This record gives sequence, structure tokens and C-alpha cells, in this order.
Amino acid sequence: MELDQNVLRLIPQVDLLMREPSMEHAAARYGRERVLHAARAQLNSLRAALLEGSTSTVPAAEELCETVCSRLEREEKPSLRRVLNATGVALHTNLGRAPLAEAAVKAVAAAAEGYCNLEYDLERGTRGSRNSLLEPLLCELCGCEAAMAVNNNAAALLLALSVLSPGKKIPVSRGELVEIGDSFRLPDIMAQSGGILSEVGTTNKTRLRDYEEVLQSGDAGILLKVHTSNYRITGFTESVGIPELAGLARTYGVPLLVDLGSGALLEETKYPFTGEPTVPQTLRDGANLVCFSADKLLGGPQAGILLGDRRLISWMCKSPLARALRIDKLSLAALEATLLLYRDPANARNCIPALRMLNATGGELREKGGRLLALLQNECVSAAFSLLPQKRPVGGGSAPGQELDSYAVGVVPVGMSVAELENRLRHAAVPIIARISDGRLLLDVSTLEEPDFGLVVQQTTQILDGKRS
Ligand SMILES: *Cc1c(COP(=O)(O)O)cnc(C)c1O
Repeated sequence: MELDQNVLRLIPQVDLLMREPSMEHAAARYGRERVLHAARAQLNSLRAALLEGSTSTVPAAEELCETVCSRLEREEKPSLRRVLNATGVALHTNLGRAPLAEAAVKAVAAAAEGYCNLEYDLERGTRGSRNSLLEPLLCELCGCEAAMAVNNNAAALLLALSVLSPGKKIPVSRGELVEIGDSFRLPDIMAQSGGILSEVGTTNKTRLRDYEEVLQSGDAGILLKVHTSNYRITGFTESVGIPELAGLARTYGVPLLVDLGSGALLEETKYPFTGEPTVPQTLRDGANLVCFSADKLLGGPQAGILLGDRRLISWMCKSPLARALRIDKLSLAALEATLLLYRDPANARNCIPALRMLNATGGELREKGGRLLALLQNECVSAAFSLLPQKRPVGGGSAPGQELDSYAVGVVPVGMSVAELENRLRHAAVPIIARISDGRLLLDVSTLEEPDFGLVVQQTTQILDGKRS
């Protein structure tokens, strides 16, 4: 369709828009400059839409102003927002991984509000080190000589390899060259550290001899074992356990670093899945250094933890990189409060949201799901609801391939497609993130907290029944 040039002339001047009462109000609230800027942007996108043919009419000035005002209002809200996780994935990397325990939230607020002894020794009245605040507790919980915390586990790995193996070979099994999400590939971190990746074995089989061949060449700086945290190689496989690798590392005088990915601090039997190596056991098996994330199975804030031999940790602490990768005070506060809960394993399982969600049984979740179902059926008329058993993954690079029991409320809307419902829930005041399966929208209750049920019901009802009322 030919563009009618006259229609472009109908676009009002920005000055004219600014004289509208709604814009004067907006100017009083947001400042004239911002409103002017938003109005220009609105007129420019209208011009572009007309030229491109995606619209053919110019809205009335009032309507344009309304759009500008709602745009300004949207921009006032922080773009990082709370969402409700109805996916059933307890450690969802895209949704911020682990929600914090109440004690951790309070510790963050206290540290944020005022001053704190982050690097001040209260005993002596002199400069202190932030690392000394966490180290004794980490050592007590994990059974090691020394410990430090940095920005995240990728930073922990980068620091360890940079300090312990610069310019030297890093033997690692071909079966363990993991990619986590789309931004973390083990070989890239190794290259960044200045060490030289030395792949040993094959994808499915790596033997002690394969490592030994590299060590015999004499230019390896460290031995690395990586937990395959988000996949599992099954079938005709062979890999070398930590005790054997630790023996080999000792023989050749290089440290053994184990990247565990997700930090399981409790004994294995305390988790509702199997095969996830724990931090204390890995140290008992002879690893000289272990690193892991604080916001995966540990259930704390984003941080990376490195622990093991005192001599190795103190080298890393002294590196300039340690300063660049250090943990900030808010994460440190949350991490310490979370770790304190681990002194009593029962406390950790009850008070740390991620652990509590993961440990909820199918029976408990069926009852919880029944309560959400009843609330929705009571409130909302424009959909059919049902309670459905589900399988859920752990997420966050933990226990790959293992699924836990869960329950979800399935929603089949009337007068609206399932895709539209999913989209509108995502745009709710407090967005609800849900999955679609088999023509239904699923609200998995394992990752929804019961106090939020009211909000889920209110927002869902408003979307489904809204047009009628
Ligand atoms: C998740 C993971 C990492 C990266 O940890 P971040 O804390 O996200 O930086 C590194 N290694 C393994 C094995 C992991 O599972």
C-alpha cells in the first residue's frame, strides 16, 4: 500500500502535545526534560510505524499523551522485579537461582543499612580482612584448613587456575569439559586463566594412566576434576575417582582441584536424590582444593567458595585477581547467615527455601496442590482446573537426569488460548512464570510458596474472568 504523505503531516508537533493537561501533570511529576524526551520518542516511533506500513492512522493527541504517560510510569518501576516461580524448577538460573532464607534476608538488610565490620578487626581496633569473617565457619562445616569466598564459582575456578597453573598444563578428562548455561564453558575459563588445557582420555572413558601420561611430561601445574553437574554420561563409561586422582597428584607433587559445581554441604543421605558428591566427602577423599557455587544446592546468595589446603588458599588470597573477584558485603552477609543454618542439618532443610522445596515429598505436594486447586475453583469461573502429578528436575546444574515428584494445577482457559494465558500471566503486576504442556497451563506448586497462593489466585482470576466483570 502506498503511504499517503499527507498522513505524516497529521503527526502533531511535540510542543502541542506538551500543552495537553496530562502532559503538564506528567512534567510536574517526572520533570519536563524526561516528558519531552518520552514524547519525542513516541512521535518518532509513530513516524517509523507509518513509513513502514505497520499502521496507517495517527491517533488523537490525547491518546498519544496517554501512551507517553503509561510509558513514563513503566519506566519508573525497577526492571529487576519479583516473579512467582510456577515452573517446578527450584534452582532456576534464569529466575535468580536460590531464594534466600529469612535469616539471610535480614542479614543483608542489616549490612546494607549501616556500616559494618567488613574489613575491621573489632578486637584489635585495626584493619581486618573480609575473608576472616567466613573462614572459620566454612572450615567447621566442611572439615578443611582454610577457605575463601569470591564473586561466583566461575571466579573461584579462574582464580585457582590463574594462581596455581599459569603457563602450565591443566589435565582434565574429555568427559568433563562442561558448558553451564550459554556463558560458561570450562575450556574458555581455562584459556582465560593462562593455563593450558590438556584433554585426557575420551568422552566416555578416562583412566588413571591417561592423566599420568600428562603428569610424566613434567609441565602440569594442577590436576582438575569437574563434576558433570548438568549432564550424565551413561553406558560404556569409565572415570577416575577422587581418591585415585588424589594419590596420583601427591605422587607428582601437583594439587588436585575439584570443581563440584553445586555445593552439597550436608551428607548425601540428607538430599532427595543420589550421586551428588558432597563437599566434606570430596575433601575426605583427598582433594587439595574444592570449589562450588553458593546459590545452587547450598541455597545462598551468588558467590563462589574455595576451600582446602592452607598454603594454596593463602596464595590465592594474596593474588591481585582475588581483589578483582572478591565477594561484596551484601552477599557475604547472606552467605554467613545461610551457612550458620547448616550447623544443624534439620534447620538447614527447614529454613533454606531451596532445600525445603527440594525435600517436599509427592504426598505433601499433592495436598498443597489440592489447596491451590480449591482456591482457584472457588474464585474463577472461566477455566477448567485439575490437579496433575508431575516430575520436576532440580535445576541449577545439580542432580542431572534425576526427577522429583511434584504436583501442578492444570489450567484450560475458556475463551482464551493457553498461550495467551501464559503470556498474560508473565505480564501480571507480579509476573507468574508457568509452563505449558499437553494443551494446559501448569502451575507447579513445589516452587510456589503458600503465602503467595492468594496473589496467584487473584491475578489468574483477573486475567481469566476479567473481561466478564
Ligand atoms: C554452575 C557451575 C559453575 C559456575 O558456577 P557460577 O557460580 O554460576 O559461576 C562452574 N562449574 C560447574 C561444574 C558448575 O556446575
